[in-house]
Amino acid sequence: MKQKVTKIGVLTSGGDSPGMNAAIRAVVRTGIYNGMEMYGIMRGYSGMVENDIVKLESRSVANIIQRGGTVLKTARSKEFFTPEGRQKAYNNLKKLGINGLVVIGGDGSFRGAQIFSNEFDIPVIGLPGTIDKDIAGTDFTIGFDTAVNTAVEAIDKIRDTADAHDRLFVIEVMGRDAGYIALHSGIATGAENILIPEKKTDVEQMVAGLQEKEKRKKLVNLVVVAEGDGVGGGEEVAKIIKEKLPNQEVRLCILGHIQRGGAPTCIDRVIASRMGYHAVECLMEGRYNVFVGIVNNRMCYTPIDEAVKKKQKINDEWMKIVKILSS
Ligand code: ADP
Repeated sequence: MKQKVTKIGVLTSGGDSPGMNAAIRAVVRTGIYNGMEMYGIMRGYSGMVENDIVKLESRSVANIIQRGGTVLKTARSKEFFTPEGRQKAYNNLKKLGINGLVVIGGDGSFRGAQIFSNEFDIPVIGLPGTIDKDIAGTDFTIGFDTAVNTAVEAIDKIRDTADAHDRLFVIEVMGRDAGYIALHSGIATGAENILIPEKKTDVEQMVAGLQEKEKRKKLVNLVVVAEGDGVGGGEEVAKIIKEKLPNQEVRLCILGHIQRGGAPTCIDRVIASRMGYHAVECLMEGRYNVFVGIVNNRMCYTPIDEAVKKKQKINDEWMKIVKILSS
């Protein structure tokens, strides 16, 4: 297993996130600096299975650090779920002599990486690329800061129009299983309520709170809902509020995919660069099958096996802060 890594394949997989390009650039340039051959695997695990792999030079990753999306494209590969698909992928890597892999993606991509690294003798390093920030073992994931800032900018604009008309706005942000975008963007924009998948929402209590604010003629009421909250997403929440508070003018805004795009923020570019650099260092030092995170501003390496078992936890204090600050 511990042969020297000389040829590295890099791929982006699952949901895209802003900053993936900065990570690709960092991996490729650090590898080349250390005398390695670098390969880009197109469309996540699909490219590995279908042998869609291209040689990358330093110039190949020029002028991408500022761009959202991913130049390697991303995909969800059904074939990679099967042992036959993974065997094909392995054979393709072997043919090219690729003996190290960097996977940039979310927890699903890590699960794929975990299975692959347990089956075959190619070490894998994971980089957390997801706007959801739902991976335990790191304070940052590549793309979260950009996505949450996009949401904040949009909600600020909604606040202006909500204020002009005295309307109540329900805003749905991304997060099927994780509420971090909702929690952060909601706190940053002064939302009254934030509904997230990790906490059960007491609908009666939420309505009572909004009713009380209606009586006090509070000027702006914003309810931020993660798409995967327990009540049923923004649409359902808006419907319930309309039914229970017929005097309120309720509007719904679903932010959707704008949260995935756009130029990565400085934070995302910097963490992507640091993580990409350390992914190659890990492969050189023989620190295999880990994902690279940052905790308390230090690099932190968690076995991929462990990473896929744990979820980030949301501290109860966050919800208390939301309640007190919106009163
Ligand atoms: P994300 O990385 O954004 O969470 P997904 O959950 O869609 O994205 O996973 C991306 C890809 O990772 C899947 O399409 C599949 O190819 C691979 N993958 C995920 N889970 C597994 C698994 N249990 N076994 C094999 N491959 C997997």
